[in-house]
Amino acid sequence: MRARSSLRQSIDAICSLGQLAPESTYTSLVLNCVRANDVEQASRLHAHMESCSFQPSDTYIHNRLLHLYAKSAEAKEARRLFDKMPSRDVFSWNAMLSLFAKCGDHDDLWATFNVMPFRDSISYNTVIAGLTDSGFPKKGLDVFALMLEHGYGPTDHTYVSALRSCSMLSCLTQGKQIHGRMVLSGSLGTNAFLWNALINMYAKCGETGNARWLFDKAPVKNVVSWNSMISAYLEGGLPEMSIELFNEMKLRCLTPDQVTTSNALNAYFETRRVNEARNLFCDIKGKKDKICWTTMIVGYSQSGMEEDALLVFHQMLLDDTRPDSFTISAVISACAKMASLHRGQGLHSKAILIGVNDNLLVSSALIDLYCKCGIIPDARLVFDSMPFRNVVSWNAMIRGYAQNGQNQKALSLYENMAQSKLKPDSWTFLAVLSSCLHANLIEEGQKYFDSMRGKHGIVPTLDHYSCMIHLLGRSGKLDKALDLIEEMPYEPNSLIWSSLLSVCSMKGDIEHGEIAARKLFEMDPLEAGPYIMLSNMYAAHSRWDDVASVRSLMSSRNVKKFAAYSWMELDNKVHKFVSEDQAHPEREEIYMKLHGLIRKLQEEGYAPNTGTVLHNVGEAEKLSSICYHSEKLALVYSLMKLPSEVPIRILKNIRVCADCHLFMKYTSNSLGRYIILRDATRYHHFIGGECSCKDFW
Ligand SMILES: [Zn+2]
Ligand SMILES: [Zn+2]
Repeated sequence: MRARSSLRQSIDAICSLGQLAPESTYTSLVLNCVRANDVEQASRLHAHMESCSFQPSDTYIHNRLLHLYAKSAEAKEARRLFDKMPSRDVFSWNAMLSLFAKCGDHDDLWATFNVMPFRDSISYNTVIAGLTDSGFPKKGLDVFALMLEHGYGPTDHTYVSALRSCSMLSCLTQGKQIHGRMVLSGSLGTNAFLWNALINMYAKCGETGNARWLFDKAPVKNVVSWNSMISAYLEGGLPEMSIELFNEMKLRCLTPDQVTTSNALNAYFETRRVNEARNLFCDIKGKKDKICWTTMIVGYSQSGMEEDALLVFHQMLLDDTRPDSFTISAVISACAKMASLHRGQGLHSKAILIGVNDNLLVSSALIDLYCKCGIIPDARLVFDSMPFRNVVSWNAMIRGYAQNGQNQKALSLYENMAQSKLKPDSWTFLAVLSSCLHANLIEEGQKYFDSMRGKHGIVPTLDHYSCMIHLLGRSGKLDKALDLIEEMPYEPNSLIWSSLLSVCSMKGDIEHGEIAARKLFEMDPLEAGPYIMLSNMYAAHSRWDDVASVRSLMSSRNVKKFAAYSWMELDNKVHKFVSEDQAHPEREEIYMKLHGLIRKLQEEGYAPNTGTVLHNVGEAEKLSSICYHSEKLALVYSLMKLPSEVPIRILKNIRVCADCHLFMKYTSNSLGRYIILRDATRYHHFIGGECSCKDFW
C-alpha cells in the first residue's frame, strides 16, 4: 500500500513539473508501475510522456507499458500506444498477441499473428493457448504444426495447450503423437502440469486405462493430478472407481480441494449413495464454494429429491455464495420437474436480478419450466427474447409444444429450425415424432423417422422406435409395428414392449398384448403397470378368470401398486391428495362440493366411465372407487380456492384414468374453466369440453 502511494506521489511530482525528465527516471517509474501492477499510474505517466513528446532511445519502456496494458486487458490504451510506437520488435507484437488472447478476441489475435513481421516461440505459444481457450482448438493445433514446421522447439506451455486442444477435440491420434514427441525430446520429466495434461487428454479421448497408467507412473502428483483421474473415471462412466481413488487420496492424508470434493459428490450421486454425498458435503471445512453447492443441487434434483435441491439453494443464498448460471439453471430444472410455477417464477426474477437470464442454459431451463407448467406463451416469450439459441433451446421449445398438444406449432417450429443453420439432434426428433404421434400424422411421422438416418445421419434410438410403434399401432397398423420391432438393430427393451402393450390395449388386441405383457413380467417382475394393463384388457372383455389369475400372480410376486396421488400449488404451498383422501383439513367441504359437481355434470350428460375398474364388482362399488380419484379432489379444491380467471393446474404422478379425463372435459365446459392437468406421460389442456390430447394419451 505504501509503495503504491509513494508511486503515485512520484508520478504526481513528474506530472506537475510538466517538462521532460531523464529517460532513466521514466524507466524506473515504468518498472515500478509494472511491479505494483498499477495500470492507472502507468497510464498517467504515459500521458505525461506523450504531452512532453518523449522519444525513448529504444523500445524497452514502451514494451514494458504495453505488457502492463495487455496484462490488465486495457485494449484501448494498448492499441493507441502500439500504433504510435516509432519502432516495434517481437516483444511489442507479442504484447499485442497476449492482449487479444486475454480479451478472448480471436479475430484480432489471428489477424495480428498473420501480419507480424517477426515471431518467436512465445508468439506461437500465446496464439496456440489463445485460440484453444477461445474455443478454436482445431486452429490451435494448426498453429502448433506450423510452429514445428518453422523450426521452433515447443516448450512446456506449448505442449500443455496443444494437449488441451486434443482433449477438446477428442483427437487421440494427434494427442498420442504429441505424447511421443514429449517422450523422445525428454521434456516430460517431473513437471506435474505436463503429466496432468497427458492424463486429461487420454481421459477426454475415452482412454481411461491409459490415463490411469500415466497417473500411476507420474513421478510427481499434485491435487490437480488426482482431480484429473477422479473426474476421468466419472466421465468414463466408472463412478465406483472415482470413489475408490477419492478414498485412497484420503488414506494418503492428501487434502482434497473443492474440485475433488465436487467430483466425489457427483460420484456418490451417480451410485445412488445420497447419504454419503450429504455427509461429505456437510463435512466440507470452511466456506463451501459455488461448484460444491451446485453439485449438491444437481445431484438432489437428479435423484428425484427436488425439494432438497431447493433447500440447498436457499442455504447457499444464506451462506452468501453467489449463484451462477449453472446453479440457477439447475434449480429452475428442479422446479420444472415439480412443475412448481410459483417458485419457478421467483427464480426467473432472481436470474434477471443477477443478470444470467440470457444465458443459454438458464433460458432453456426456463422454457422447459414454463412448458412443464403448461404456460406455453411464457415459454415462447423466453424463447423469442433469447439473443442466441442453440439446439437445446430449440428442442426445449419444440418438446414443450409437443407435450402440451400443440403439435402443429411443434412441427412448424421444427421446420423453422431446419431452415436455420442448426443441425437437429436425436432429442429434436423425439419431440417431432411425438408431435406426429399425438396429432396422428402417420405419413409425416414416417417421413421424419426416415429422414433421421437418411438426411441427418442420426441413428434412431429405442425411444424413436417406441414412438413409431405407438404411431403405427394406434393407426391400426399393428403388423407394421411388429415388423418394425423385428427390423430394429436393438434387442427390444421394456420401453418397446410397453409401447406395444399400450397399443394393444387401446386396440383390444389381447393376443399380442399378452406377448408384450409376459415379456415385461420377465424383465421387471415387480413393476405393477403391465399387470394392471393386461388385467384391464381382460376386464374390458369380461374375461374375469384371466383377471383373477393376473391378480393372483401379482400378489404371489408381492407386486405393489404404485400409490397414485395428485397435487396443486396454492400460495407457494403444495396440496397433495390421494384417492379417497381423508387427511386434508378441508376434506368435508371438498367432498360436499365434489358431490354437487358430479350431480351438476350428470345433468349435463356426464356418465361415469367405469370400464377400467379392475374388479368384477357391483356398479355402485365401481362408481365410488372412481368418484374420489385424487385428481378430482385436487380439481374441486382448486375450484374452491382459485378465482375463475386463473387457470387450474393439477399434477398427477401416474397416467390419468378415462373417467377423470372425461370429468375434466365436462367441468371445463360447464364452469368455463381452463384446466391444465399434467399426468405421468403428458399434458392435458381442457378448454370448453375439449382436451388438447384429442383423447389420445
Ligand atoms: Zn381417475
Ligand atoms: Zn387429455
